Amino acid sequence: MSVLIFAENWGGKFKKSTYEAISYGSEIAKQVGGNVTAVVIGNVSDEDMKSLGKYGAQKVLSVKNDKLNALNPSAFASAIAQASQKENAKVVIVSYTYSGRSVAGRVAVKLKAGLVAGAVQLPSSGGGAGGGLTIRKKCFSGKGLTDVTISSEIKIIGLYPNSFHLDTGEGSAAIESFSPSFSDSDFNSTFKETKKTSDKIVLTEAEIVVSGGRGLKGPENWGMIEQLAELLGAATSCSKPVADVGWRPHHEHVGQTGITIAPNLYIAIGISGAIQHLAGVNSSKVMVAINTDKEAPFFKAANYGICGDAFEVVPKLIEEIKKFKSAH
Ligand SMILES: Cc1cc2nc3c(=O)[nH]c(=O)nc-3n(C[C@H](O)[C@H](O)[C@H](O)COP(=O)(O)OP(=O)(O)OC[C@H]3O[C@@H](n4cnc5c(N)ncnc54)[C@H](O)[C@@H]3O)c2cc1C
Repeated sequence: MSVLIFAENWGGKFKKSTYEAISYGSEIAKQVGGNVTAVVIGNVSDEDMKSLGKYGAQKVLSVKNDKLNALNPSAFASAIAQASQKENAKVVIVSYTYSGRSVAGRVAVKLKAGLVAGAVQLPSSGGGAGGGLTIRKKCFSGKGLTDVTISSEIKIIGLYPNSFHLDTGEGSAAIESFSPSFSDSDFNSTFKETKKTSDKIVLTEAEIVVSGGRGLKGPENWGMIEQLAELLGAATSCSKPVADVGWRPHHEHVGQTGITIAPNLYIAIGISGAIQHLAGVNSSKVMVAINTDKEAPFFKAANYGICGDAFEVVPKLIEEIKKFKSAH
């Protein structure tokens, strides 16, 4: 028996969410018993694959196939399901990223397994051969949490990024090459080309996000948002109306109808804190709101609030961060 983790990579490199999934999987292996195996699909260096051992993987199944260097949900799901059968895995962990979401359900169907999508904690009970696992997950666009028990023999868990700590040690994983079989239907859709939109920090992976709303009055005022973000090593985002009127690109819009994020720090500037906005950001570990209106709903959700004019507060913040950085 083993715990299998889909170790997602982008362009040959693992992201933090992959290390979180391995750390999480190795904790589950302590609960339910068995080995920890990661399946890696695509061209990742041996050195990087071995490094998964630091997070608890004992073995890596490496699937290399020219058709699988970019995400193909159907073929990836076939490979993961076959890897799970090969390893007799009773628990399969997938990061609940956009890629992970597109494969998790397919893997569950192939393995006739129950799926907890968007898990945020280790199982609170159960485990062992054939036993159920009760796992806390997000629901209602992240506004609520619910405990779900999976009782199927094989259990699939989609782990929400940024909800589990990294466990690092000294290990080095053994690499084994694995060649699953694919059917033509696995390649009914294929990626032709992948284009990187910019070199900026990717919003969904950012540890810090600086976000602006309609309180910023116009696109010409985003310079200070970008400057603050750059100083903090943060990504930028915005509220829906800001993207709708074209002040910012749509891929920056966060919320119920936009992107869901869970950074360690979310700074909301000139954003009211409407429920539809909070739905996309309320999993942030710490939220700071800057708003002129002391009644703005964001102040109820935020951990810290600055009641003040963004055009006064943000330049002061920038100044202070610069001073702090030059002194350290
Ligand atoms: C079905 C549906 C889905 C939606 N999905 C989303 C979504 O995904 N994401 C989203 O964001 N919204 C979404 N919305 C819209 C949402 O309801 C709000 O209208 C929106 O979030 C408001 O954006 P805002 O806070 O930037 O603007 P406003 O509501 O106009 O708020 C601006 C804020 O800036 C403050 N302010 C003004 N001047 C300053 C200043 N100088 N300094 C500091 N603060 C200042 C004001 O006090 C105010 O609180 C959705 C709505 C619906 C109906």
